[in-house]
Amino acid sequence: MWIVSAAYFTIGFFNIVFAWLGMICMIIPLIIAATRGSKTWCNNYCGRGQLFMHLGNTLGMTRRKLAPRWLSSHWFRNTFLIFFMFFFIQMLVFTIMVAKGTRELHETIHLLWTFDVPWHWAYPVAVEPWVAQFAFGLYGIMLTSLIVGVILTIIYRPRTWCTFCPMGNMTQMICKAKNK
Ligand code: SF4
Repeated sequence: MWIVSAAYFTIGFFNIVFAWLGMICMIIPLIIAATRGSKTWCNNYCGRGQLFMHLGNTLGMTRRKLAPRWLSSHWFRNTFLIFFMFFFIQMLVFTIMVAKGTRELHETIHLLWTFDVPWHWAYPVAVEPWVAQFAFGLYGIMLTSLIVGVILTIIYRPRTWCTFCPMGNMTQMICKAKNK
């Protein structure tokens, strides 16, 4: 699955509309957790997690150091989840504003929750502006998590990102509630 993940980022670089496919990585884990009460997605199918493993274990791009314990603490994981949700909701609000015509389409990627990076070359097809706005927003979120995850893989261990990944955290909460 790591190849699928790598293909996603490559194709999205050239055509932002394909960024919508990232919703699969957000919806399916939640459905699996809610119906089966398991983290099957994280354990078997997540391309991003497998990409970190590939970079670290196969390509040796890791120092194999223990990450600081606070990274996997409850307070940090939950604070990061709230932080992530803030940007996800902001992306939805911007999409709605573009759909209503109260905001112009921004052909940029919001990277590392800080920088607006021009990404206009990736908008070669004519789609509704709100469709493109959502795609730019989602691609920014996905690319940010990839960059942070790769940096953490190199500095610490593969899948250090997974210790506080918002999707992993949400599916874990659902599994706990389901298996009570
Ligand atoms: S914790 Fe996040 S990045 Fe890691 S395997 Fe699960 S969904 Fe993928």
